[in-house]
This record gives sequence, C-alpha cells and structure tokens, in this order.
Amino acid sequence: MCGIIGYAGSENAVPIIINGLKKLEYRGYDSAGLAVYTEQKFDVVKRKGRLAALESCLKENPVSGFTGIGHTRWATHGEPSDENSHPHLGHQNKIAIVHNGIIENYKRLRENLKAKGIAFTSQTDSEVIAQLAEYYYNGDIIDTIIKVANRLEGSYALGVMCLDQPGTLIAVRKDNPLIVGVCETGNFIASDIPAVLKHTNKVYYPDDKEIAIIKKDGVTFINFDKEPIDKELETISWDADSAEKGGYPHFMLKEIMEQPKVTTDTFLSLSGNHDNSKIINDLKLDSYNKLVITACGSAYNAGVVAKYVFEKLCRVSVEVELASEFRYKNAIIDEKTLVILISQSGETADTIAAMREAKSKGAHTLSIVNVIGSTIAKEADHTIYTIAGPEIAVATTKAFSAQLIVLYTLGVEFAHKLKKIDTAQRQVYLNDIKTIPEKIKAILNRIDKIQHYATDCIAYKSIFFIGRNIDYAIALEGSLKLKEISYIHSEAYAGGELKHGTISLIEDNTLVVALSNCERLSPKIMSNIEQVISRGAKSLLVGSCKADEIEDKLQVIAVPEIHELFSPSLSVIVLQLFSYYVAANKGLDIDKPRNLAKSVTVE
Ligand code: GLU
Repeated sequence: MCGIIGYAGSENAVPIIINGLKKLEYRGYDSAGLAVYTEQKFDVVKRKGRLAALESCLKENPVSGFTGIGHTRWATHGEPSDENSHPHLGHQNKIAIVHNGIIENYKRLRENLKAKGIAFTSQTDSEVIAQLAEYYYNGDIIDTIIKVANRLEGSYALGVMCLDQPGTLIAVRKDNPLIVGVCETGNFIASDIPAVLKHTNKVYYPDDKEIAIIKKDGVTFINFDKEPIDKELETISWDADSAEKGGYPHFMLKEIMEQPKVTTDTFLSLSGNHDNSKIINDLKLDSYNKLVITACGSAYNAGVVAKYVFEKLCRVSVEVELASEFRYKNAIIDEKTLVILISQSGETADTIAAMREAKSKGAHTLSIVNVIGSTIAKEADHTIYTIAGPEIAVATTKAFSAQLIVLYTLGVEFAHKLKKIDTAQRQVYLNDIKTIPEKIKAILNRIDKIQHYATDCIAYKSIFFIGRNIDYAIALEGSLKLKEISYIHSEAYAGGELKHGTISLIEDNTLVVALSNCERLSPKIMSNIEQVISRGAKSLLVGSCKADEIEDKLQVIAVPEIHELFSPSLSVIVLQLFSYYVAANKGLDIDKPRNLAKSVTVE
C-alpha cells in the first residue's frame, strides 16, 4: 500500500515531507524514510517502525534540502527493516526512488542486474527500479524513466530524483494512486490528498503512464512518447481540518460522528443537478437482465445489504460476489449484465481486477467510490461518488454509511424505472431514506448506554452476531468491525444457521449480539436468543423490534424505527460504537489495527 510524498520548492522539504507522511500513515506504517537533495548528493534517512522513529532520528541528525521524497511503507516484499525502507538508491547513489505497488517481474530484473555486477542492499522489489534506472541512465532522466517503466510488470506509483537534476522531481504511475499538488512556494506529488491539503487544494490527477515533471516553479506532463499532455487542474473542496481528528481521540470516532452529515450530503448528491443524480437518470436499467455486485470487506457487506434491497424492491435476482473470487471464476456475465463495484478508495486491487474482468466480458460497470479520480472511478463505465470526504481510520464507518445511502437510492430508482413501484411509493421510500441522518443523530446523542455496555465486554473470548434477512447483512458488518479493531474472535451467522453448527460454540464466556429490525422475523430471532441464553451465553439485542431486557442475560439497545430495508444504516451505528468502545477500553491502536491497511492495493 505505502504512502509517498515529494516536494520541490523554496522551503525546507523535510518538515513538509514529515507532515505529509503523517497524513499518509494510514496507507502503511511499518517503516518510513526520506531523501533530500543537498550539495550534489542525497541525504537519506530511513527507519523501521512508525513515523515517530524517523522523526527522532532526524532530530539527532537533521538534514535539509529544497527537493525531497518521502515514503511510509507497508511491506509486500522484504520484511520491515531499515534497509528495506524507502527511498531506495541505485549503486552509484545518483537516482533515488520511492515506490508504491508491486513489481511482479522484480526477481528476473534483479538477477539480470546482479549478473552485471550490481549489488543490491535490500530484499524489496522496489530497489530494482532504482538499480535499473542507474543502469540505463545516459544523462537524460526522462528517457531513463520511460525505459525503466517499459521493463516493469506489475503496479507502481513512483517518485524519482536524479542528482543531475537538482530541484526536479519526476513521478509516474500505473495502477496505483498519485496526485500532483501545486502551490506558490512549491509543488508536490503524493499518494493521497490529505498529504498536501495543508499547502494547497489545487491538484492534478495523472493517468496511468503519464509522467509528471515537478519543479519549484511549475509542473508539466508528458506521455511515454515525450509528447506534452494538457491536464486539468482540479480544486479539492475538502479543507485541511476535515483530514484532522477534530478533537476526537481517534479518527474512527470522529468519522462515526460525521455520519449524519455524510449521509445527508450523499443523499442530496443523488437528486437535483449533481453528477451523481445524472448518472442514475442516464442508466438504462431496463436493458439489463442480471445484476452483480462485487466488492471486498465492508464494501462487500454493503453489497449484501443491497441484495436484500434490490430483490425486495425491484424483484430482480442479484448476485453478490467477493471481488477476489469473482475475478478468477470466469463469471457468467455479458453485455446484458450490470456489474456494480463498491470501493471506498477506488484502488482496491481485487475490485479493480473484477471491474476489468467484467468489462472484458462486455458487461456494463457502475462503481460506487469515495475517492475522486481513483482507478475504479476512472475506468468504470459510470461512477457514483459517495460524499464521505477523506476517511483516515483503517476500519471504515462513514464511507460504508454513504455507500448504503447510494445503494438504497439506486434500489428505489431501479424499482421505479422497472415499474415495480409507482411514483407515490418512490417518494415514500425516498422520504424514509431522508430521515436517516436525523435518526443517526438521535443514536449518537445517547451513546452512554453503548459505551457502558461495551466496557463490560472486553473480556469475552468470542462474540457472535446473528440476524435474519437484512439484519444478517448488517450482522456481517458488525462482526467484521469488531474483529478488525478489538482483536476479539467474532463471527456472523444467519439466525437460522445457529442450530446447524455454531450453537456448539456457545458457552459461558460468549456474547451473542442479535439484530432485530424485521417485525415479522422478530419471534424467530427471540427464540434464537433464548436458545443461546439457555446455553450460558449473554445477549445484546440491537434493533427497533421491541423486547424486554432480562437482567444480566439480555440487554437491549433500541434504534429508531424506519422501513426495515433502511434499518442497516441505524443498527450499524450502534455496532460501530460498540466495537469502538470495546477496542478503546482495551487500549488498542484503533485507527491503525495490526496487520491491516486502509487501501488494499495489493492482491
Ligand atoms: N513493494 C514495495 C515494498 O514492499 C512497496 C509496497 C506497497 O506499495 O504496498 O517495499
């Protein structure tokens, strides 16, 4: 995954790079490093561990320069270590690079270079880029980068500096994110917008295989034939504050609290003149005979919610597939299929591959993405953006809620276009969706009970989540959230499946969280609760269906009433807060859970 940043300007690059890396730590945090150009050489400082390790090293041995590149790593090839940290330099210390991505043919390239006597200093795939660049270098760094890029198989976003070009940064990408930011005192490259927001909100989005040449006083773009490219400068509406914690102890809590706004903004974007609304209007929904939703992680869970919504409202059958499975299964799809891809970052490697597979089979692709200009957003036939702003906590909350709003609205509009509901019914459903932000606010205004309950749950060895129909979909998300950040073993089951196996795991030290928002299924879920309580478990009921608390055995956290199809948006808030407070009470690193990274850009 990794975060890269580069700066060429009139100020000391080091604090600018460090500040940018702080904003990119969510992309990788097993090591960090930087290189600055100074007096005909590169000063390179890199350290295994969190950014703080690099910072304290820089305090002891300060470096400075007006041009520099930095990197925060999430290792894919070679363990986290000082040597494997980026930047990497070639054997003559002439070219320095930072890399995000995976070079699939690195072994072959490495062996070839070794055979020519070139010594490697790391185990990474990335070092081969720096070594190959110096091997090819003939005085023209652009020629060299094009030559190198043409030899690379896999994915990359690269920041490059060359000793012969002081004051210049070169960047190029393929299948990994990269933006170019411009400002009066200097220009930037970065993996993501929060890294540059402190300095500028004006950015370019280079496409695959476009080379950006960044100097103190300007930025130019060329293609691999060295022809100039005209790029549009875009203005980011996020302010720097929205990328900060805003007074909360963790980004995750801040992002949970932002959900009334995010759901409002996303809902508003789906009507009126917004591009999102135009896309819904333009979709020829009656021309498809099959609907497939594919995604990973929480976005997949949003897809499971959508399956219930679409099937109920539109009466069309919907397949939901994990993108990592879909991409390899030779899916039965054609030009009459609409494939919906959901991804917060728009850079999820498996979802990108699923999209390309769908397109190669002639299917139409509609993506639901949070990051403007991301690969999925650019390549899908149509893209609806969630209006969630930058999401920093690794465990998604607000982007998930925004995805649900898009999916509900799509479900209602599809049903209307397919004439399964009339205009009056459409309006009733839309009015119901419109109440979601206020109802979320009501839950957020009384979090004490959730917080208190979660405090008692930190000692559980296992926590199960059960639900039926659409409650099952949100049980999946509740369970995922809990295990992601609290490290407590958790699984989600459809209520009816308990008796087919899971019930054997129920014992004294178990908690079963039951979701209950479907009135007609409430008696069924209540008998599931009785079954687990009689086997020693305790239970927490979350939902709008009424139930009586049983002291010490069954606690109830009620959520406001809403049409059952839209109830996931309310239950999930309780489950996010529950997970958050369990993890907080365990004193864990909530925003950066171990082994996880925000944007899963590798397979
Ligand atoms: N493959 C590179 C490394 O392991 C970069 C990792 C990444 O971007 O995920 O250092």
